[in-house]
Amino acid sequence: KSLSKFFVTARTLLGAPRAVLKAVEGVSFAVAAGETLGLVGETGCGKSTVARTLVGLYTPTAGEVLFRGENIHAALAGPDGNLFRRRVQMIFQDPYASLNPRMTVGDIVGEPLDIHGLATGNERRERIMHLLGQVGLSPEHASRFPHEFSGGQRQRVGIARALAAGPEFLVCDEPISALDVSIQAQVVNLLQDLQAEYGLTYLFVAHDLSMIRHICQRVAVMYLGTLVETAPVDELYANPLHPYTQALLSAIPIPDPLVQKNRRRVVLGGEVPSPINPPPGCKFHTRCPRAFERCRCEVPPLMGHGDRFVACHLVNG
Ligand code: SF4
Ligand code: MG
Repeated sequence: KSLSKFFVTARTLLGAPRAVLKAVEGVSFAVAAGETLGLVGETGCGKSTVARTLVGLYTPTAGEVLFRGENIHAALAGPDGNLFRRRVQMIFQDPYASLNPRMTVGDIVGEPLDIHGLATGNERRERIMHLLGQVGLSPEHASRFPHEFSGGQRQRVGIARALAAGPEFLVCDEPISALDVSIQAQVVNLLQDLQAEYGLTYLFVAHDLSMIRHICQRVAVMYLGTLVETAPVDELYANPLHPYTQALLSAIPIPDPLVQKNRRRVVLGGEVPSPINPPPGCKFHTRCPRAFERCRCEVPPLMGHGDRFVACHLVNG
């Protein structure tokens, strides 16, 4: 059921002391309750900015983030701010940097319970043990410190902390890319189990398309701060429409019969342009193997094609 949706229309300008970085522009998408939307793009494309804007860590300069119909930034500043803070949680890319090294794992997981006044004393202890169990850790782990754990275990601690507040929407910013490949599938399986158990909604940020297929129902692809294509996951893999999506897909190292069939290795030339001074017209034209004259001056709008959206003059005609 898609009655409850998280709508996002954000245009974020991050102000550094002297330069203004145009990180994200006119990015608009919806995540249906209970689904996982993959947000994919190269480093620096603005996906973390979108993720942080969604949870209220950044404020958009224009546009808004709607959570169940309410503007999340207004809600966070209002009397129900703490309720919103509980409902939308974030799992960070780097489990090493996101855990306080001086706190025990039990206190890290229990902190949201304290902040939101959800449990004290014995109840707090039991909730912490239960949360640790849910992410595959054991009660003995509660008294240890983050440095005593492996990368995968630390990410489990981060997930337990995010779960403690009883969220509905989890924004996962590259939660597995800092982990060994052998551990990645375990963390993905855990996230999927938790989603099924609690009916969670996920935004799953990734820098390539290799794991996304197994996690997401829909995928949004970003390039230099704009969305270039959104599509149901099977359609995107079977028939990527945007030249940038085609290039990302062709770079997947894992053999996949469906992808293999349509595979044509696309190697992108050139550097990723600076987001401070992005190219005019289609931002991808400096690297697009199919660019033509119009691409250099005219910005391709994101246009609907059935249940997918594409921003490319070739596809949109
Ligand atoms: Fe390539 Fe032009 Fe399409 Fe941009 S609009 S992706 S440059 S063909
Ligand atoms: Mg990032």
